[in-house]
Amino acid sequence: MNYSTFYKNLFSRIFCTQEISEHPLVVSALKKMEGIPVSIINAREDLPPEYRNQRTLFIQKPKGNIVGRCPGSRGHLCCNYLTINAYEGCTLGCTYCIMKSYLNFSPITVNIDIEKSVEQVLKIRENNPGQIIRIGTGETGDSLLYDPLFDLSRQYVEAFSGIPEIYFELKTKTDFIDHLVGIKNKGNAVIGFSLNPDRLALEEEKFAAPPAARFAAAEKAINSGYKIAFHFDPIIRCKDWREGYSRVLDAMEVFPEGKIAWISLGTFRYPPVLKDKMGKRWYLYDEFVPCRDGKFRYLQKIRTGMYGMVKNRLKKMFPKVPVYLCMESPAVWQKVFGKNPGKINDLCVIFKPVGYHFENS
Ligand code: SF4
Repeated sequence: MNYSTFYKNLFSRIFCTQEISEHPLVVSALKKMEGIPVSIINAREDLPPEYRNQRTLFIQKPKGNIVGRCPGSRGHLCCNYLTINAYEGCTLGCTYCIMKSYLNFSPITVNIDIEKSVEQVLKIRENNPGQIIRIGTGETGDSLLYDPLFDLSRQYVEAFSGIPEIYFELKTKTDFIDHLVGIKNKGNAVIGFSLNPDRLALEEEKFAAPPAARFAAAEKAINSGYKIAFHFDPIIRCKDWREGYSRVLDAMEVFPEGKIAWISLGTFRYPPVLKDKMGKRWYLYDEFVPCRDGKFRYLQKIRTGMYGMVKNRLKKMFPKVPVYLCMESPAVWQKVFGKNPGKINDLCVIFKPVGYHFENS
C-alpha cells in the first residue's frame, strides 16, 4: 500500500496552526503529502468556511484537554473507558456513524499534544493506584486511518509501555498496522478491530477494510506482540443476522484466547439528530424504542436475543476473555448475563469507575 498516494487522494488542502508547524511529526507528515497546498494559520477559527469539509486536513495543538471520558449514556451502564481525542473526524464513510450527530467542525482534525496528554493519563494512574485504566484514541475517529501519516500511536504506545495498569487501545476498521509492528516495547497496547458480517461491511462501511483484511491485521498484530480486542458495534439486525454474525464468530476461532484483551457488544442505536443525517437506510425501518438516554434502540427482547447468541458463542470459544455490553441498561445485563457487570469477576475490574478531574486548560 502506498500511503502517500492514498492520503494525497483523500485530502486537497492542509491547514496547520503556527505553533505546531515545526513539530517533527508534522514536518514528517507534510513531507509524505508533498504537493497538497499547506496554509499556516493561527487558530481553527481562521479556517475559511469553504474549506470546512472532509477534503481538508487540519493540524493543531489543541487549546483544551484531549484526554477525557467516554461520554457514557444516562440510565445505561458505562465501562469507564477513557479517551484521547488525537484524531477527530473520519472518512471511512460508515452510514451509521454517530459522529455525524456531534462533530460539526468537519475538516479531519489531528490534535498533537502528546506530552500533556501522556502526563494527564499518568496523573490519573497516580490518583487511582492499582486500578486498570483502559484508554483509547478511537472515540472521535478511527485510531489508525491517518496514523501512518502522523505516527501518533507510536508515541502513546511507547509512553505507556512500562505501566502494567494502562491498557492503551487503538480501535480501527482499517488494516493499517504495519507502522506499529516494529515498536520495541508495546506494554499492554491493544489493537481493537470492529467487526461486522461481510455484506454489512461492504454496504454500510464503504471505505473500511474488508473483514478478512481486518482479521489478517489482527493476526499480524498478535504475531508482533500486541494484544487484540474485537468490537461488535453496531450489531445490525439484517435479514440473515444469525448466519452473518455466526460466520464472523467462526472466523474468530483461530485467535488464541490469551491474546484477546476484551470483546464488546453493542446493538445499533441512534439519537434522533443522527436519523435525520442518515438518509433512508433500510435498517432504520426496523422497530425501535426511545431509551432513557434519548437514543433509539431495538426492542429489549430483540437486543437480548442478539446479544445472547453472540455472547454465548464467544464465551464457549473464549471463556476467559471479558465480554461486555456497550451502553446497555441494567435490565438487559440481567437478561443476557444474569447479573450486572459489577458482580461478574472479569468485568468488575473494568467497570470500576476511574476518578479524575482536570481544569480545562
Ligand atoms: S470507522 Fe468509526 S468513526 Fe469512521 S465513519 Fe465508521 S463509525 Fe464513523
